[in-house]
Amino acid sequence: MKNNQTKYDVIIIGAGFSGLAAALRLKPYKLKVLILEADDDIGGRSWNKVLDDGTIVELGGQWVGWQHQRMLSFINKYKLQKYTTPPFPEGKTLFQYNGKIIDEFPEEAMLLVNNFDNLTKEIDLEKPWMHPNAKLWDNITFEHWLEMQDATVYAKKMVGRIIAGGLLSRDTSHISMLQALFYVASNAGFDVATSSEKGAQHYRVIGGSYKIARKMVGDLKGTDIILNEPVTVINYDQECATVLSMNNNVYQGKYLIIAIPPVLASKIHYHPSLGSQYYGLLQNFPGGDALKVHFVYERPFWIEDNNSGNVYLQEGWLTEVTDNTTPSDPHAILTGFIYGNKKRELIQKDLEERKKLLLNELALFFGEEAKNILQYIEYDWLNSPWTGGCFSGSLRIGCWTSYGPYLRRPIGAIHWASTELSIHFNGYFEGAVLSGERTADEIIKKLKVKKPKIKKILPNCKVKCN
Ligand SMILES: Cc1cc2nc3c(=O)[nH]c(=O)nc-3n(C[C@H](O)[C@H](O)[C@H](O)COP(=O)(O)OP(=O)(O)OC[C@H]3O[C@@H](n4cnc5c(N)ncnc54)[C@H](O)[C@@H]3O)c2cc1C
Repeated sequence: MKNNQTKYDVIIIGAGFSGLAAALRLKPYKLKVLILEADDDIGGRSWNKVLDDGTIVELGGQWVGWQHQRMLSFINKYKLQKYTTPPFPEGKTLFQYNGKIIDEFPEEAMLLVNNFDNLTKEIDLEKPWMHPNAKLWDNITFEHWLEMQDATVYAKKMVGRIIAGGLLSRDTSHISMLQALFYVASNAGFDVATSSEKGAQHYRVIGGSYKIARKMVGDLKGTDIILNEPVTVINYDQECATVLSMNNNVYQGKYLIIAIPPVLASKIHYHPSLGSQYYGLLQNFPGGDALKVHFVYERPFWIEDNNSGNVYLQEGWLTEVTDNTTPSDPHAILTGFIYGNKKRELIQKDLEERKKLLLNELALFFGEEAKNILQYIEYDWLNSPWTGGCFSGSLRIGCWTSYGPYLRRPIGAIHWASTELSIHFNGYFEGAVLSGERTADEIIKKLKVKKPKIKKILPNCKVKCN
C-alpha cells in the first residue's frame, strides 16, 4: 500500500463534467485539489470516435441546449465553435404513426403530451416527494398512467416511447410516473427537452462535447489529476476522508466530492457504514439502457427529398433518428437510438443482423439508398465498467418518496455530485456541471475561505492596481 504524503483540501472522485466543474469552481480559492479518475481519460460520458478521414462521431453526450447556460459559458470562455442543429432544419421530420408515415406530430399525441406537461408544472424540483400525489405517482409506472388516459393506443405508444425512451432511456413499465414528471420538469418541459430549435438539442460543438472537457482540464493548472485510479474504499468522519484506490494507493483529504453516477457510488466500500437510507438510495438508482448507433454516409442524400433526417418511430427497434452531420466533417451521419427492452433484445443478435434490421427500418423512411452505408458504429455504455448506464440513472419505482431527502445530503466529509443529483437539467451535461458546482460551493462554505482578490494590470500601467 502506497501512502500519498500530500494532504489535500478536496479530493474529487471522477473526471466527468461534474467533477471537472467542481474543480474549476474551487480553483480561485487556491486549495489543494486532487481528481481521481478510474478510466484512462477524462470526460466521462462524452467521448469521440475519430474516423480515418477525421470525421468525429460522438459516442456519448453531444448536444448543448439553448437553456444550458453553464455549458454555453464554457463554450464561450474556451472560444469553441458551435453550430445549431439539425444541419438541415428546413427539411421534414417524419413520424411513423398508426401504420403510416406522416410529417407532423399527431394532434391526439400532442393532447396527451399537454396533459402530462401540465402535471410537470406542479412539481417542486427541490422536493418532488412533497407533492400531494407523490406517493401515488411514485408507486405507479408511467405505463400505468398512460393506460388510464383517454387517448388512442397509438398516441399512448408514441408519447410513451418518446418520454420513457427518448428522454429517460427506459421502458414505460420501468419508471415511476413521479420519476417521469420530475425528469421532464427538471428539463423545462416536454417541448424544451425534445426540441432542437431553442431546446435541449440546439447546439453542437465542432470537435465534439469532449473538447469542452479537455479545455476544462487545460484550465485546471495546479489541480492534480490521476487517471487509471479507481476508488474502491472510503474511510471518513466529520474532519477528513481517506481514500483507497484499486491500485492500493492511499490519499487523504479534508473533503471528498463523489462525482460519479450513484449506481457506481454504491459499489464503493464506506467506513463507517453510510446507513441504510444512503445505501438504499444508491442501490436503487440504476443507469438507463440506450444504444446510440451511427450510420456513416458519403453525403446527406435524404435532403434531396426535403427530409431533415429526423424520424420518430412508433414501432420497431429504433425510437428516433436524427441527422448528426457536422458541417466541418467530410461525411454525413444519421444517428439512431434504441431503448430498454428493444435494446436488450437487439444486442443479443450478432452485429451483421443488428445492422441489417436497423438499415431496413431506415429504408422505410429514406428509401433503399439508406442501406448504402460506409460504416456502422455503436457503443453500449451499460457495458462500460465506469459508467453504469446511458444516458443517466433514474430512481426505481417507489424510491423518490423513500429516499428523496437523502439525494444531495452530505455525510461527514463526503459530498455528492453527478448529473443524476441535479435539480435542474437532470441527466444532461448542464445538470452535471450544476451539481459539481453546488458541491464545491458547499465545501467552500464549510472551509470558510474567501475568494482571493484578483490583481488587475491596467493597459499601459506599470504599477499593479487593485
Ligand atoms: C450515449 C449518451 C448520449 C447522451 N447525450 C447527451 C446530450 O446530447 N446532451 C447532454 O447534455 N447530455 C447527454 N448525455 C448525458 C451526459 O453525457 C451526462 O449527463 C454527463 O456526461 C454526466 O456527467 P457526470 O460527471 O455526472 O458523470 P460521468 O460523465 O459518468 O463522469 C463520472 C466519471 O467518474 C469516473 N468514475 C466512475 N467510477 C469511479 C471510481 N470508482 N473511481 C474513480 N473514478 C470513477 C468515470 O470514469 C467518469 O469519468 C448522454 C449520455 C450518453 C451516455
